[in-house]
Amino acid sequence: MFKIKSEIQFDTAHYLSGYKGKCSNIHGHRYRLIAKLKSETLHEDGQLRGMVDDFSNFKGALKEIEEIFDHKLVIENNDEGKALARKLEDLPNNFDIYFVNYRPTAEEMSRDIFNMLKAKGLSVCEVELFETPNNSCIYTED
Ligand SMILES: [Zn+2]
Repeated sequence: MFKIKSEIQFDTAHYLSGYKGKCSNIHGHRYRLIAKLKSETLHEDGQLRGMVDDFSNFKGALKEIEEIFDHKLVIENNDEGKALARKLEDLPNNFDIYFVNYRPTAEEMSRDIFNMLKAKGLSVCEVELFETPNNSCIYTED
């Protein structure tokens, strides 16, 4: 079994609707994302001979993930999230909101990112998303 991995980081704010406690405030993280692709065999001919995938292809897909999340405010697309977004839209700042259909926890975001990479045709086997240097979620379908 071969696995290749690559990493990106992005700065993102999130809002956890329905959460009581310190993290109920809008706050941000320097997210660190490590993704892994796997393959039992290597490509046997052409441009990808001897590879699981081309790192430039892999890194390009991760760059697209980074652009989705970087410097965005991630809010769940529910009544509470929409009410918050409406209040922010009244302010002079141009809030760049990324609505998701889930509570934007590290767990849900890692699953979402896994599925985005899979939809791009990558042989993704694991995504690890760090919210802090010590806390991460690993999502895998194994
Ligand atoms: Zn947080």
